[in-house]
Amino acid sequence: MDVSSILDGLNEAQRDAVTAPLGKLRVLAGAGSGKTRVLVHRIAWLIGVENASPYSILAVTFTNKAAGEMRARIESMLGTNLATSWVGTFHSICHRILRTHHERAGLIRDFQILDRDDQLRLVKRLMRQENIDEKILSARQIVNTISQYKEAGKRLADIDTSAIYHPIEKWIVHIYAQYEHHCRENSLVDFTELLLRTVELIRDHEMIRTHYQTRFQHILVDEFQDTNRIQYAFIQLLVTDSTDLLVVGDDDQSIYAFRGAKIEHILDLEKRFPRLNTIKLEQNYRSTGHILRAANAVIAKNSGRLDKTLWTESGDGEKIDVYPAFNEYDEAAYVIERIKMHIERGGLHQDIAILYRSNAQSRLFEENLLGNDIPYRIYGGLRFFDRAEIKDAIAYLRLCLNHADDVAFERVVNNPPRGIGQRTIEQIREIASRNQFSLWQALAHAVQQQSLPPRATQAVSQFMQLITDTQHGGDSLPTYLQRVIDNSGLRDHIKQQKDERRLDKLENLAELITAAEQFENHLSTEEKADAIGLFLAKAALDAGETQASNYSDYVQLMTLHSAKGLEFPTVFMVGVEEGLFPHQESAMITEQLEEERRLAYVGITRAEQKLHISYAEKRRLYGTTLYPRASRFIEEIPAALLHFVRGTPTHYTVNATNAANATNANLTNSASSQSNQPTIQLGSLIAHPTFGEGTVTALEGDGERQRVQVNFSEQGSKWLVLAFAKIQVL
Ligand code: ATP
Ligand code: MG
Repeated sequence: MDVSSILDGLNEAQRDAVTAPLGKLRVLAGAGSGKTRVLVHRIAWLIGVENASPYSILAVTFTNKAAGEMRARIESMLGTNLATSWVGTFHSICHRILRTHHERAGLIRDFQILDRDDQLRLVKRLMRQENIDEKILSARQIVNTISQYKEAGKRLADIDTSAIYHPIEKWIVHIYAQYEHHCRENSLVDFTELLLRTVELIRDHEMIRTHYQTRFQHILVDEFQDTNRIQYAFIQLLVTDSTDLLVVGDDDQSIYAFRGAKIEHILDLEKRFPRLNTIKLEQNYRSTGHILRAANAVIAKNSGRLDKTLWTESGDGEKIDVYPAFNEYDEAAYVIERIKMHIERGGLHQDIAILYRSNAQSRLFEENLLGNDIPYRIYGGLRFFDRAEIKDAIAYLRLCLNHADDVAFERVVNNPPRGIGQRTIEQIREIASRNQFSLWQALAHAVQQQSLPPRATQAVSQFMQLITDTQHGGDSLPTYLQRVIDNSGLRDHIKQQKDERRLDKLENLAELITAAEQFENHLSTEEKADAIGLFLAKAALDAGETQASNYSDYVQLMTLHSAKGLEFPTVFMVGVEEGLFPHQESAMITEQLEEERRLAYVGITRAEQKLHISYAEKRRLYGTTLYPRASRFIEEIPAALLHFVRGTPTHYTVNATNAANATNANLTNSASSQSNQPTIQLGSLIAHPTFGEGTVTALEGDGERQRVQVNFSEQGSKWLVLAFAKIQVL
């Protein structure tokens, strides 16, 4: 084995970590210092030099995409196949364990995963049955509480119901009970349950525990600072005195405390393993100097940090561009304009990421990207497998394989519409709950007993025929999926719709077949026998990162949370304003504010060469108009690192250290004073008879020649000559 190829491209501290003797090792280091790289090279080292069997390795990554990349990198480094190693997210690993021991876990082999959408539907249905008014208690609230219980390891039996007096809490626990019952009866497992059930399985079955403890001699965990209680319990159950354990993490990037992640887990390791070694990495390889210094300055405002510093050998690079936008349209126009400049200079779309605090912010950017023919993808938002037409097709597949899958049944029974009305469905549900039948059995029962009106009977009989005719006859996964989609009538139904996303939807269905083909090609021979089950699991588990398409040159949009661990040459952090980021609810509470600040640190450190930060001085969000000021996180960056595009913003407070530089800020905001038509200014909201409403984003020329650039909310950006355009200032 060529050792040097494994150690090439590592600094001394990284090498120490990669070549450390087997034992317990913790790597604590800031963003971009090569933690993930160490983890990858460590696996290569274990296999290539320590002669570890790939079979003995368990590596936990933050996303499925990271798992795929890791596998590919190690395989190319070693030229060996890693098929027998377990590399994946906590969820995908737990899913695998539960499938293997499904009987012990009280599940059927092809148990289904309930995603959040399914969970909400189910809870809504249970609430209807119990006559609980959604105006008083929302399904969302119940789903969240159920997850919290489970995350704390609390089963129903652990809840002392006699101590609950509040009627709302009583209802929640009551629905929790019904929910659990339904899930157990139907072998349904939600995301948190995947983890909890696995932990219980390993904890309560010594044989299984010993098996995995013996098997996984090497356990490696990335992003350890964000493990929650159950995930930590899972690791603790598997690690013995002889396990070789590597965890890497950064306390400054812990951003999931609201979901129960605990920074303390990083610290707790010392108590648990007295012989734990710790290695710190301090050189950052990702970002240029200005960006790194900005990140350091922001995070320095947090209290109680572990002592870490980051430096870089790369030069200062460009300053950080700060754009105070007049409003959200102007902000989007700025981003689009910069993207176009980047492309004109020969850059790629994929170099660019737009990062925002909350999902709702993506819409305007999407519209503008679309309007300007700039290819983009939303990462982690509406993921491929979450799109309605894909979920419909998958639900058909599930129902064809397992008629008792009630969730799938409900989704497709009248989709495409086939005359099975709400009344009929209620009737079926009632028969099912009275007889403890699945909905499918209830349907069969109703037909047999002729308890439905003749027209309904005919409709449901046809539906049953369709499903039973679509048996899996040993076809390959893509062939079978194709047949399921053909028979379902989904495609014809979409074709008849007047939906503007019609073509998109048809393409997505075609893409699903491609996804299935690609998926099957990557399976080992042994796994191929189980291709459909594994594919269904993938559809439920893929955290959105993996797009089915091969085409990859697109701008990426995502929340700051889902950007963790990633890097991009150019990053736009948008909506960096008080109220949005830090989030309004978090600003007052120190702990939450510090979590927001860590999120800012994550955002800034995603940028390699260029960082743009923007905020809007006026924003319509969630139906109200806000007049926010620049986020304190911008103020925490020394002004010497910033370059204000278009003047010093009105709300930016210049503090003592910033003052010297503020005067150097590039002042280009003079257009409004040049305007000889006082009613129209930069940021004016105007209406045009053809293009609709928009915001003025630039003015130039004067007299008859004066032109304005307007960013129309529907039609995108346009230049108009003032003398001719029939513009009305709103
Ligand atoms: P994060 O905290 O954001 O997850 P990280 O600590 O995991 O960051 P990596 O993603 O592993 O950091 O590395 C950051 C970048 O620096 C990557 O592009 C990586 O390839 C590069 N890199 C890491 N170490 C070195 C090195 N010794 N020489 C050159 N490049 C390196
Ligand atoms: Mg990393």
